[in-house]
Amino acid sequence: MAFKIISKPYDLMYNSKPVCPKCGHEMQDACELDLQSDGDSTEVECGECGEDFKVELDLEITYNTYPVENKSAEPAEKDDLVPIFEIGPAPASALNILGNMLE
Ligand SMILES: [Zn+2]
Repeated sequence: MAFKIISKPYDLMYNSKPVCPKCGHEMQDACELDLQSDGDSTEVECGECGEDFKVELDLEITYNTYPVENKSAEPAEKDDLVPIFEIGPAPASALNILGNMLE
């Protein structure tokens, strides 16, 4: 009578760490594997049960963006510029001129 070993349904795809298909052990030192590019694969031995299995690198590329101050001398579209430096109390000289005009 033959026994078929049915492995437990470990989640083997898209994990942050390689998971042994046999025992479910998570590899802690996967960064030491020689996997550089998306799809690179290598064979490793499970540190827990000794089973050989294949590890494939799946890279998901994401982008972060941050606004930067506009250092360019050439202004961008005028509509995009917010005149933050023009907001504030008017200089005394401007108030004097305005005062003279009202007299
Ligand atoms: Zn294992």
